Amino acid sequence: MTQKIFWEDPYQVECTAKVTSIEGKKVKLDKTIFFAFCGGQESDSGTIDGINVVTATKLGDKENIIDIEYELEKEPHFAVGDEVKVVIDKEKRLSLMKLHSAAHISYYFTIEKFGKMRILGSNIAPQKARVDYESEKNLGEGLEEVEKKLNDFLAEGHDILRTADEKLPDLKWWQCEGWKMPCGGTHVRNTREIGRVRLRRITKGQSKERIEIHLE
Ligand SMILES: [Zn+2]
Repeated sequence: MTQKIFWEDPYQVECTAKVTSIEGKKVKLDKTIFFAFCGGQESDSGTIDGINVVTATKLGDKENIIDIEYELEKEPHFAVGDEVKVVIDKEKRLSLMKLHSAAHISYYFTIEKFGKMRILGSNIAPQKARVDYESEKNLGEGLEEVEKKLNDFLAEGHDILRTADEKLPDLKWWQCEGWKMPCGGTHVRNTREIGRVRLRRITKGQSKERIEIHLE
């Protein structure tokens, strides 16, 4: 099992790790800071011992990350058992953390305004996040009010907690004030770090409403 440092310390952008497996260009490590696509959050960008990582794949189900496999740009010069340096793109990680936390909080203010809705999908990229809702309503009408409440809340500086599931230690929970949801992503520790955000409604056809979240 890969030790996930990105859960213990999401601000860490460098680490050394031991190589536990190599198959062609595919590599596994004993521990890592390099996040692999999970719960809609994009993978980090970065290198393992100077070689670019092309894809990072989580092995496990849903929000539960067991192992991570990295596919490198070329076959590695290192061997199983070697110590390697893992480095990730700090700016990208920070944007992903801010937008992921903002997406969760925006969900609660959105359903507070429009009522409970089914989430059809979500995605957290470094430029923007999006949440797709199943709704017959036009979520554009009243979105300014949601945006204002969201920004006021962010500025108040609420702590964001990450806790592990008692039965499944690799299943992580996200908590902020009275809200709690399962989430395997990376998050900032306080809402104030996010700054201000803008919400945009995009229509995606019948009964599908997309809300985009942008950092200001
Ligand atoms: Zn999440």
